[in-house]
Amino acid sequence: MPVLVDPALLGTHLGLLERGYEDFLEAMETLALEYLSRSPVPGRFLFLPDATGNEFRTAGGRRIPVLEIGNPEARENTLVFEATCHGGEKVHSLTLFLAFLALCQGGSEWETLLERAYCVFLPVMDPDGWHKETRAYVDRSGEEVRTPVVVSMNHIRNFFGWEDANAAFGRKTVATRGRRIQALQQYLLSQPGNIRVYSSLHETVTLESEYVYKNAGIMIFLHERLAPEEYERIARLRYHLTFCEKVEYFLRSRFPFFPPKYRGEVLMHYPSVQKTLAIRNFIRKCGLPIFQDAFEAAFREIPFFMERDLPVFEGIYLIGPIFQKAGIALAPDFYQYHTGCTGRTIETFAQRKELRILQGLAFVEGTLRVEVKGERF
Ligand SMILES: [Zn+2]
Repeated sequence: MPVLVDPALLGTHLGLLERGYEDFLEAMETLALEYLSRSPVPGRFLFLPDATGNEFRTAGGRRIPVLEIGNPEARENTLVFEATCHGGEKVHSLTLFLAFLALCQGGSEWETLLERAYCVFLPVMDPDGWHKETRAYVDRSGEEVRTPVVVSMNHIRNFFGWEDANAAFGRKTVATRGRRIQALQQYLLSQPGNIRVYSSLHETVTLESEYVYKNAGIMIFLHERLAPEEYERIARLRYHLTFCEKVEYFLRSRFPFFPPKYRGEVLMHYPSVQKTLAIRNFIRKCGLPIFQDAFEAAFREIPFFMERDLPVFEGIYLIGPIFQKAGIALAPDFYQYHTGCTGRTIETFAQRKELRILQGLAFVEGTLRVEVKGERF
């Protein structure tokens, strides 16, 4: 089990997800302030400000909570975690809230870690979507609508001028990004320090995923910007999947005298890949299921991914280059471009809520251990 998990806290607070947004927000504010008052590490609860410094309100009149904890002097080492990038994916709102409460509770390990880091949690980025249990689409004027959960697996692409809110983060002109996205970007980019890591937590909520990805564990996408030649080179190489390939890969990785044959031989040189693998290994060490190669075949059947040659490596998907090729930048790509941070997205698949939350918490803890303490698993 990840240390960040307090089973009692998880059990007590699971019911919060069944409440209406205002109720949920009120409970979050009350509990956060209560925990902060006893926390050995400084932190704060606030609502996302707008351009004039007032509380930002969505079209539905809702406010966006921000939870921060860590050493304000260590802001050059800021880690951002957000949930409900797709509004209806509510489970990880609780994941991030519970992670914040656990960090407030202190303990020597977390206190030492937070000496060197500053954490920003955005548990509900899209309160209107949270409320409606759906996701946002943005038109070319930046106007948002929230249609039923998912129109099709092609949801991220720009069709009829509408684009998934995640993709709208990277739109070239500010005016086409929408008020809410602008407020979020302005807040994070005006941080006094520097964002080092940006993590976006998702869950599948589509009907298809109930069949295809039942109990598929957790998948990590790494947003890495490679030079186009480097991407082409990796895309041409193979992934070691069969027994023979695995043996050969093992030998080659020990004796690197030959030009690379497998993707791993190149990818393992990237620190971001090494760290992502360490986070994945930590989650596995916690006894939680990791996305298996067996799902890989099923994954390829989905039209959205069909047309792209996904460089998969040990269950980690390098999402940056793919979307770069398609001209799409998602939220983690956007922040990576502007701050040089490492961007990661997690997807948790159809399974019990508690399990999705545990996986999300293990990911948060793994990220803190690997990125701040430099631990390897
Ligand atoms: Zn999502």
